[in-house]
Amino acid sequence: MTSTLPLNTSKVNAAHKLSLAPLQVPERLLLGPGPSNAEATVVAAMNCQPIGHLDPAYLQMMDEVQDLLRYTWQTDNELTYPVPGTGSAAMEATLANVVEPGDRVLVGVMGYFGHRLVDMAGRYGADVRTMHQSWGQVFSLDTIRAGLEEHRPAVLALVHAETSTGARQPIEGVGALCREFDCLLIIDTVTSLGGVPIFLDEWQVDLAYSCSQKGLSCPPGVSPFTMGPRAVAKMEQRQTPVANWYLDAGLLRKYWGRDRVYHHTAPVNLTFALREALRLLAEEGLENRWQRHQDTAEFFWEGLESIGLSCHVDRAYRLPTLTTVRVPDGVDAKAVARTLLLEHNIEIGGGLGELAGQVWRVGLMGANSHRDRAETLLTTLEKVLHSSL
Ligand SMILES: *Cc1c(COP(=O)(O)O)cnc(C)c1O
Repeated sequence: MTSTLPLNTSKVNAAHKLSLAPLQVPERLLLGPGPSNAEATVVAAMNCQPIGHLDPAYLQMMDEVQDLLRYTWQTDNELTYPVPGTGSAAMEATLANVVEPGDRVLVGVMGYFGHRLVDMAGRYGADVRTMHQSWGQVFSLDTIRAGLEEHRPAVLALVHAETSTGARQPIEGVGALCREFDCLLIIDTVTSLGGVPIFLDEWQVDLAYSCSQKGLSCPPGVSPFTMGPRAVAKMEQRQTPVANWYLDAGLLRKYWGRDRVYHHTAPVNLTFALREALRLLAEEGLENRWQRHQDTAEFFWEGLESIGLSCHVDRAYRLPTLTTVRVPDGVDAKAVARTLLLEHNIEIGGGLGELAGQVWRVGLMGANSHRDRAETLLTTLEKVLHSSL
């Protein structure tokens, strides 16, 4: 017996023009600003059949992911969980939960991602103020103190690892200043988590966010978020509801906490992958991992010098996870990156914003932070540069 579809009078567009070839993904060495390559066991974890997001086995995984994230950030914050979406979603979650219309938010802008914080904070109705530093430099504690004195903000937001410039903003001492001026401290750890030392509680940071696809070497799609007691207190005193329903920590904590109240369908396979990526990190140990990133970066920086290239950022503030390499005069930066990708399967990034055309951005993060991968890039880059001159 055949059944007919109800009242199907519409004509279906033909499928013959669609690509019906099976999916093919090229194999690339991802040495740009992200994503970075994932370890085989992380890819395998993602490849499992999904289970329900209220399945006891899944709930246990959630607890484990939370503990692993607390370890990775060195925090005891109860509200620590990955949000669905990429790093920008977690960035938005920090601002959305603590910023009320009219709140003054001071942002330290020393690159592209500082500007993104400014844009987002404005959308939540903040009275946004900025401090600027040239691209590649960082803020001193004195400058930060002066900014807090001048603007008296409710929230200060800083980018710990500015991926557009390759600079590492020191956070030591900033938390104490923020308490002195009674303001919350948000830090962007998107390109530092899992590769650069972070001591969130010791540094007295109130909110932080990251992503899965850079230092944690997990495919993109879920992003770590954490919120400490002072931030929770501000959220609980809000006069207005959090303007973003999807990222409202007051609702999400009922799912991530003991109540397990449904909020949205969790991206379960990405949680599997993140758990595995964090497990690998914990197995290696944070200190070993930080040291590996520093050693690989130093090896790479010396290699750059030996092929006649130089770094944009002063060594004292240079990020081990992301290096900005100056493009030599007369070299077409885009053409070199394109040749690396299409002829050698190596991805690196170009300059963003003010540094467009002036630098390449090289990420040696997570699974890719190894000498042999740095060496591969150095040898290939030298070859490509020679043939393009
Ligand atoms: C990559 C990045 C972001 C944004 O993360 P997405 O995953 O691209 O949304 C935010 N801040 C910094 C410093 C970044 O490097």
